[in-house]
Amino acid sequence: TQTRTVPVGPVIDETLMLLSPRIKGGQTAISFERPPRDLAVRADSVLLEQVMMNLIVNALDAVGEEGGTIRVTTVREEPGMVVIRVADDGPGIDAATRGRIFDPFFTTKEVGAGLGLGLSIADKIIRDFGGQLALEDMPVGERGTIFAVRLPEAELVA
Ligand code: ADP
Ligand code: MG
Repeated sequence: TQTRTVPVGPVIDETLMLLSPRIKGGQTAISFERPPRDLAVRADSVLLEQVMMNLIVNALDAVGEEGGTIRVTTVREEPGMVVIRVADDGPGIDAATRGRIFDPFFTTKEVGAGLGLGLSIADKIIRDFGGQLALEDMPVGERGTIFAVRLPEAELVA
């Protein structure tokens, strides 16, 4: 897969803009915490946007009609790796379901609401860039779900 230097901030801005019709008028607050200095990854902006779209739509589905809070954060963790997290305070994913969410066509949504392909496609895209997509454990006592996209950092040339 061909990769380029992709600044993360603009990709997430674009994703949130595309989702704004669904976010506006709803009960869900979405925050995007930018890193102090904007980070870039080695990826493809269109494919990364597709991954972010999948994760944020899943988070919106999870909080449902009553709404909730979704947080998107970007950090450099291990040297050379950038982690983008999407966290929601929806019902979370139970132990029996956790092992199946990356399977193609696995969905817990009503017929017609979800094809069950989002996470399997997102996982493949991220692995093709030399990264990982992971479901993380929630801090003890907190409700919800955290997905982490881990990608190689790219040099941002000014
Ligand atoms: P789809 O969204 O079409 O169901 P996905 O592959 O995107 O397919 O997700 C598979 C399943 O993983 C969902 O049906 C749901 O059960 C679970 N899931 C994914 N994201 C979340 C989330 N943020 N909170 C709760 N469950 C989730
Ligand atoms: Mg989905």
